[in-house]
Amino acid sequence: MDNFLITKYKDVEPYVPGEQPRDRQYLKLNTNESPYPPSEAVQKAVAESASSLQLYPDPACRDLKAALAESLGLSPQNILPTNGSDEVLSLSFMAYAHDEKPAYYPDVTYGFYDVLSGLFGVKAKRFALAKDFTINIDDYCGLESGLIVIANPNAPTGIAIGVDAVERICRESPDCVVLIDEAYVEFGAESCVGLVTKYPNLIVSRTYSKSMSLAGARLGYAIANEDRIRELETLKYTLNPYSVNRTALMAGVAAVKDIGYYRNNCDTVAKTRDETAERLKTLGFTLTDSKTNFVFCRHESVPAGELSDRLRKAGILVRHFTGERTNDWLRISVGTPEDMLRLTDTLEKILNGGIE
Ligand SMILES: *Cc1c(COP(=O)(O)O)cnc(C)c1O
Repeated sequence: MDNFLITKYKDVEPYVPGEQPRDRQYLKLNTNESPYPPSEAVQKAVAESASSLQLYPDPACRDLKAALAESLGLSPQNILPTNGSDEVLSLSFMAYAHDEKPAYYPDVTYGFYDVLSGLFGVKAKRFALAKDFTINIDDYCGLESGLIVIANPNAPTGIAIGVDAVERICRESPDCVVLIDEAYVEFGAESCVGLVTKYPNLIVSRTYSKSMSLAGARLGYAIANEDRIRELETLKYTLNPYSVNRTALMAGVAAVKDIGYYRNNCDTVAKTRDETAERLKTLGFTLTDSKTNFVFCRHESVPAGELSDRLRKAGILVRHFTGERTNDWLRISVGTPEDMLRLTDTLEKILNGGIE
């Protein structure tokens, strides 16, 4: 027997994370991590957690719920901390979709949605983005039941939709749960958190991985009406009651208190992104209007796969998603201004035939 998996899992397609190679030191612009370390207070909280790691974490995550609730002007019952926001996504697919209740999402979006549809046997209905990668809001209005999932801003396109558009979807598909994945919202898009008290069918997911420099700690959270939070929390307690570890909880509380440091980092990243975009345009790239910590770009003459290979040889990793609609494009995470100067200088040399 080379496969003991039970039948329903035999064909699952796992998520393929951006690589974390060890063969040499690369400039990593391939997984949208923050180029800045956690704040000193967060590093201190992480160190302090060590002396109590013999104890389980609080499964109800009360301190973190309280800290987040206060910062968002909501109640702790509106919040569920999770092991990365990926856990919000898995709990939501589990809770609100199956083979007859579809999950609806764009054809070009975060790859994990397809993975979860496969794992949970969910019927996936993918609506094609327009040619310019914008979402047609009408597609998501008037749907009868199931789970609507929209990353806002979308990935890997970086394009955002407005709060008014999300509100229209919540209103016009009232029997669907609408999950807005705000993994990148802090870099320049409008958050829909203000709508959760008005629309019981809305769930917003957020993560500490990108804007809060804690990708390695695995921390995210859902924000929603208290009934939705109760449903997701019930499933969390069924699957993994201690999914958020003690160190992550302490880091998460400390980070909320240091929000100024993180806002400043996000503003710097947004500024660096816009400067990088301008330089890339002068090098012959076309870009989408990214509101995230990455740019999505294609070159007028050199194929994306070739650029990505050559950058790798020069010690720089970027992400190339093969696949019909994204094959011509590169997703490049925004690092420090120095990182981005190295990137654009290297691209310039490659394009001028200066390096192989
Ligand atoms: C990175 C990302 C996530 C998940 O992040 P976690 O590290 O699990 O919090 C979710 N959605 C999108 C669109 C992302 O890019």
